[in-house]
Amino acid sequence: GGTVRFEDVRFSYDPEREILKGVSFEVPAGRTVAIVGPSGAGKSTISRLLYRFYDINAGRILVDGQDVREVTQASLRAAIGMVPQDTVLFNDTLGYNIRYGRSGASDEEVARAAELAQIDGFVRRTPKGYATEVGERGLKLSGGEKQRVAIARTILKDPPILILDEATSALDSHTEREIQDALERVSRGRTTLVIAHRLSTVVGADEIIVLQHGRIAERGTHGELMERG
Ligand code: ADP
Ligand code: ADP
Repeated sequence: GGTVRFEDVRFSYDPEREILKGVSFEVPAGRTVAIVGPSGAGKSTISRLLYRFYDINAGRILVDGQDVREVTQASLRAAIGMVPQDTVLFNDTLGYNIRYGRSGASDEEVARAAELAQIDGFVRRTPKGYATEVGERGLKLSGGEKQRVAIARTILKDPPILILDEATSALDSHTEREIQDALERVSRGRTTLVIAHRLSTVVGADEIIVLQHGRIAERGTHGELMERG
């Protein structure tokens, strides 16, 4: 399962200014669709609407054929994992941070997720396993390390649907490549919506949608978009 469908979605934060002006696309189960476009185009808004942070003005958003307004918030959010641009950690242990979203997970499951996200090394480096933003109680994590925590969290949560919202855009290019590799591994087999600002980072997506001023300006595979120029 995990098919995501937007049907002629219209949305505005303020009544005076429409942000999404009739957006339609589908992410078939297990596939990857990337949304690219200039800053302010409405890309992140799409991910917030899928998570149902806001209700739309017109159209429909469907997950496995069900309108997101007709499923409970809890079951919708259990089905969707999100890796944001900047992961904000709780000033608590790495285990707590990785467990966030699946608090019942066993120590073994947390350790396995940490290993898959390749953070088991710095779990051991950290006094009592603390991950802090302030760096006093424990280790101050780098941007790449924080994204690995978000990836471990996602592995543990194991959602059928994944939103990667500019998940590597705050990183230096070496770390970006590493995290992108890890994200590709975790997105395999999951329905994945990738928000990106550069076409070059979403080469392998099944479909790329170019959003401009709240409308789809172009769509196709990376090859098709390059051919058209
Ligand atoms: P599929 O099985 O649908 O092809 P994959 O998980 O193999 O899905 O991912 C397809 C492509 O999506 C990847 O090759 C990659 O180019 C792109 N992709 C996935 N995650 C990211 C990401 N975080 N940033 C940029 N591109 C990504
Ligand atoms: P993108 O992700 O493509 O950069 P966003 O979806 O973040 O674009 O934003 C689209 C537009 O909506 C922008 O003009 C932005 O200023 C506006 N916007 C975003 N969030 C809010 C909000 N909470 N309230 C009002 N306007 C917003």
